[in-house]
Amino acid sequence: MAQVPTVTGMVDADELGTTLIHEHLRNRDEAVESQWPTVAVSVKEEKPHEVAPDQIFEVAVREAKAAVDLGVKTIGEPTAMFLGRDVEFMRRVSVETGLQVVPCTGIYTYDHLPQFFMNRDPDQIAELFVHDIEEGIQGTDIRAAFIKCAADEPGVNENIEKVHRAAARASVRTGAPIMAHSRPASNTGPRQVEIFLEEGVEAPQIQIAHTGDSDDLDYIEGLLETGVWIGLDRYGLDIFLPYDRRQATTKALLERGYADRIFLSADSVATTDWFPPNVIDGLLAAGAANDWTIRIIHERVLPELREWGLTEEQERTLMVENPVRWLTG
Ligand SMILES: [Zn+2]
Repeated sequence: MAQVPTVTGMVDADELGTTLIHEHLRNRDEAVESQWPTVAVSVKEEKPHEVAPDQIFEVAVREAKAAVDLGVKTIGEPTAMFLGRDVEFMRRVSVETGLQVVPCTGIYTYDHLPQFFMNRDPDQIAELFVHDIEEGIQGTDIRAAFIKCAADEPGVNENIEKVHRAAARASVRTGAPIMAHSRPASNTGPRQVEIFLEEGVEAPQIQIAHTGDSDDLDYIEGLLETGVWIGLDRYGLDIFLPYDRRQATTKALLERGYADRIFLSADSVATTDWFPPNVIDGLLAAGAANDWTIRIIHERVLPELREWGLTEEQERTLMVENPVRWLTG
């Protein structure tokens, strides 16, 4: 039986159960938090994005518990460097709630790299990812299950290509799969796949996250034809694509027989310091996000899909079998 690393140890693949492949327990800017620890997060109470530092753990626990109550057994937690990865935090949330958390290694950047990485080549960067996969993350024995990288509006520029090649080489060396944040509006997906394949990564090891920010079926099928997985993984983030268009895309892809190539998730973050509270209030007032939580797949998306005709077998494929197949190769 293949095993998968979680923050509480290795588990048999058939123990993963119902899995949301892309949810964050916390995002933060680790550099800001390190330099200005008292001002990085505001201190209001009501909303998850306005919690005080000592409440962040409680909010993450609350959201994780809500997922467990809905039948979620495991999440993929793609919080990498520059999103404030902290596996000890993830472990505490997992122990408190029973939610299995599958952590990653990697770098989340759209263009910037610090001097440390500017002055190292892809093989040297891959070495760090391999360390996390084979030895453990941040001085623990918690091992990374997959490798995260990203391309966004600036496209696959020089720095991004370097990180992608490093991710690919670490994947080839270890067998760990890759999750690549993409931006369909900038057509990043095809180039990301091209780099991974050039480096010798097998297509079934590759997941192009956020493909569901597009409902251009030609774009999506173009990616699927290369043999990769796609993430329909930002339900609730209406700013990138409204909910109804996400659902229509999912249904169209299910009708075309792609249940075994798709992930449904929300890319939720229990807490984040990315925006000051007034900006978040403005974004929410403008409809940027609606029901954007770890709960949306089980509270809205799946019930609607069942009503529409999603079979039990398809649901099992989407929520149980696909995560195992991607994570274990
Ligand atoms: Zn994410």
